[in-house]
Amino acid sequence: MLTYLCHITVQNERPTRTTLEVLTHLRRLAYRDHARLAACVLHPEAASVVEALKAYGVEQVYLIRHPLFKQHLNAPVIAALEAVFKQAKPALMAFASTEAVKDVLGALATRVGAVAVPDVSAFDFGSTFTATRPVMAARALADVTVADQPVLVSVRAGAYQAQPAETSVEPELVEIPLEIDAAALRATLREVITGATGQLDLSEASIVVAAGRGVRDEAGKQLVEALARELGAAVGASRAAIESGLFPASLQIGQTGKVVSPILYIAVGISGAIQHVAGMAGSQIIVAINKDPNAPIFNLATYGIVGDLYQILPILIEEIRVLKT
Ligand SMILES: Cc1cc2nc3c(=O)[nH]c(=O)nc-3n(C[C@H](O)[C@H](O)[C@H](O)COP(=O)(O)OP(=O)(O)OC[C@H]3O[C@@H](n4cnc5c(N)ncnc54)[C@H](O)[C@@H]3O)c2cc1C
Repeated sequence: MLTYLCHITVQNERPTRTTLEVLTHLRRLAYRDHARLAACVLHPEAASVVEALKAYGVEQVYLIRHPLFKQHLNAPVIAALEAVFKQAKPALMAFASTEAVKDVLGALATRVGAVAVPDVSAFDFGSTFTATRPVMAARALADVTVADQPVLVSVRAGAYQAQPAETSVEPELVEIPLEIDAAALRATLREVITGATGQLDLSEASIVVAAGRGVRDEAGKQLVEALARELGAAVGASRAAIESGLFPASLQIGQTGKVVSPILYIAVGISGAIQHVAGMAGSQIIVAINKDPNAPIFNLATYGIVGDLYQILPILIEEIRVLKT
């Protein structure tokens, strides 16, 4: 029997939204192909993660519990994934495309003799593996076909919708013992410095309010943050807004920043340059607020508001407050 294996990214002791999106698609393929749906969890506290996976129809969970996996560190993660892979022997292993996964995918492929296909927006696995990859800042789509097996694929956020299975499953737990000599690691994690403590994770947020160069001062920044607070949204920014010094680099969305695909994306004072669009085009609903009616962002927007953000945002924030009471 074929095994389709999904790597589970964990945040706050839960599988991330993007992981569940990938898992949902993998489940569909597994049902169709009569393959076993398995998951791989590297985390010291796996109980709540396993609980969440039951609803997604996972039949087998490969677990490596180690305190080191509270944070991402390439060498032990690659060693652990290799151990899981060699035991599970999947024909296909899928990952949510994250910075951490980008770091390990190639190395893992080399270790296990698999083909790595990173950062796809769609994939299928019939007699051959096929995928669609946005390339050149998402200006073009490449069709990828892989004749060989096994395949490792990483999937962009928002490519699929997360949906629990019709019936939940009690998965078989396969604990894999792994000796990691922490003292022998050539790289260690000494400190995690987060640019935006207490903020929602951009890549995981269902709503994103993103600021562009049109947000020109502290007052504008406060309006953007107030709107985000009212909506329970994460704040993002264009590169121009980051270069202005108002927003930390960790919030950049785009070709050289993060790729987001929320349900709602509100672009505030953003022109819609192709490099920015590469990071947010997968959003389900796009609202653009811009004083220039010819701004390219309006070609992409579901709803557009032409006007000065300094006048529009206070009205919007007030309306949302009223609606919430
Ligand atoms: C190799 C490369 C990689 C890049 N990577 C990225 C990336 O990852 N992410 C990214 O964002 N950019 C990236 N860029 C930069 C990109 O090309 C654009 O320069 C940038 O996205 C522009 O940001 P912006 O839309 O905020 O600014 P602008 O293009 O200057 O647009 C500002 C907009 O705000 C509007 N505006 C001004 N004042 C107001 C107001 N009061 N009310 C309402 N609207 C107002 C204007 O009409 C305008 O449309 C990259 C560029 C290169 C060359």
